[in-house]
Amino acid sequence: MAKKVAIVGAGVGGLATAARLAHDGYDVEVFERLPACGGRNSLLEDSGFKIDMGPSFVMMPDFFEEVFSYCGESLKDYLDLRVIDPSYKIIYSDGEVLTVHQDSQRTKEELERIEPGAAKQFDKFIRETARIYGLIRPLLYRCVTYRSLLHPYYWALAGKIRALESYWQLARRYFKSDKLCYAFTFEAMFMGVSPYQAPAFYSVITYTDHVQKIAHPMGGMYQIPLALEKLAKKFGAKLNYNCPVDSITEGCGRLAIKAGSRIIEPDYTVVNADYAYTQTDLLKRKIPEFKYSCSTYLIYLGLKKKLDKLAHHNLFFSKDLNKNLDQIFKDKLIPEDPSFYVHVPTVTDPSLAPPGKDILYLLIPVSNLRKSSDDLSKHEERIRKLVFDKINCLCGCNLDELIEVEHRFYPQDFIGRYNIKYGATFGLAHNLTQSAFFRPANFDAKIKNLYYVGASTQPGGGLPVVIAGSRIVADLIKQRKAS
Ligand SMILES: Cc1cc2nc3c(=O)[nH]c(=O)nc-3n(C[C@H](O)[C@H](O)[C@H](O)COP(=O)(O)OP(=O)(O)OC[C@H]3O[C@@H](n4cnc5c(N)ncnc54)[C@H](O)[C@@H]3O)c2cc1C
Repeated sequence: MAKKVAIVGAGVGGLATAARLAHDGYDVEVFERLPACGGRNSLLEDSGFKIDMGPSFVMMPDFFEEVFSYCGESLKDYLDLRVIDPSYKIIYSDGEVLTVHQDSQRTKEELERIEPGAAKQFDKFIRETARIYGLIRPLLYRCVTYRSLLHPYYWALAGKIRALESYWQLARRYFKSDKLCYAFTFEAMFMGVSPYQAPAFYSVITYTDHVQKIAHPMGGMYQIPLALEKLAKKFGAKLNYNCPVDSITEGCGRLAIKAGSRIIEPDYTVVNADYAYTQTDLLKRKIPEFKYSCSTYLIYLGLKKKLDKLAHHNLFFSKDLNKNLDQIFKDKLIPEDPSFYVHVPTVTDPSLAPPGKDILYLLIPVSNLRKSSDDLSKHEERIRKLVFDKINCLCGCNLDELIEVEHRFYPQDFIGRYNIKYGATFGLAHNLTQSAFFRPANFDAKIKNLYYVGASTQPGGGLPVVIAGSRIVADLIKQRKAS
């Protein structure tokens, strides 16, 4: 008889694990507390606007392809991924705009305008990050433990991937101006950590942005969990929605999962729910003093008409980025003049809004709720106005007059909707002491047959990396079965 696997959570990590294990012949059942799949990759629908609530950048498409080929399928039969151009726009506080194009030659012309000589430096930076990417990539499919630290290979690797240097320091080796250093490290913010704290090896994200380019799934980001759900169902996985798991307990050598009135005793359990929440709330354990990523304040807008001048992805940088980062990560304050991100998916994919209308998704990084020294509710209208003013100034519009629908999502909503500890949007922070060996492993050290997949475990957060984590878990379970 097929071994039974229970998966707690139908985020991208849970769905990808379900698809792999169902394909491998396991009897897979998923328990998700929300009414639909996707987790942080959720969809909000209102008045014909289809607004993706979470991720918006598709990077490292080969990681997406891998899960489909693992199951003997082809990604293109499930997702229509298109490379977008321009990749993104950076709008500095003095009004200068840097456009990053699909064509690196055009990007280099932009860089030269901001810092003479930067085109050559860009080539060197890309060569260095390509080298690091080559070393890091295989690690993303491996669960490494403290025991691995004893191996000389990993000691040598730490030096080669510049583990003790920060993302910012790496960029500074190549670019003189703060403007370009920020342009080549802002991705750290989207892992919820400051570029001053993120290790240099996370620059592989900048590398993939520039070299592998950025894609968009036609029909919106929500097509990604839908595609994984379809894949999992094709191989017989059973998905239960509106089905929260209340506890995971160990007794008589087996785990018992309580989901409403049901008690399930599977052979293997994979938890996709946030790692810190799982430890405290489902397993009733004490957790170490983890560091958490920042949170985010999100404003989702459906506009009556289309805007000019914005690209699909836009980053507005604060006047004083240093202060902005300190306020979020050190002082735990709501930033005075925040940097923010604007997603306009309707630039590439008009099908997401009624004809002639636009979607604007505004993401403002703020401190998480752990020992926060501030309260967003005191600042939310000020921040909304500040952000709107900057967009109005660039686009020559009055956003308030254009709004047809508006929804807001606060740090507390990450707890209420997804059970994310302290509303830390991206889960556990990606600093050195919580990366690789130091990040929670994909298996439980004390309870046999309990596994973890998702943003706060190895190899880390972000859609492609979480999908790689699902491969690690599937491999671990198969090895366990074989042993
Ligand atoms: C605003 C935002 C922007 C982002 N931007 C990007 C981006 O551009 N590109 C990118 O690659 N990544 C991005 N990310 C990160 C990416 O979305 C996440 O890393 C990824 O979606 C995490 O997936 P997961 O499977 O780990 O967890 P989740 O999506 O959190 O899924 C966990 C699931 O577990 C469920 N659950 C929790 N508790 C229980 C319980 N007790 N019982 C049953 N179910 C439970 C939750 O409801 C949820 O569905 C972004 C994230 C956010 C929030």
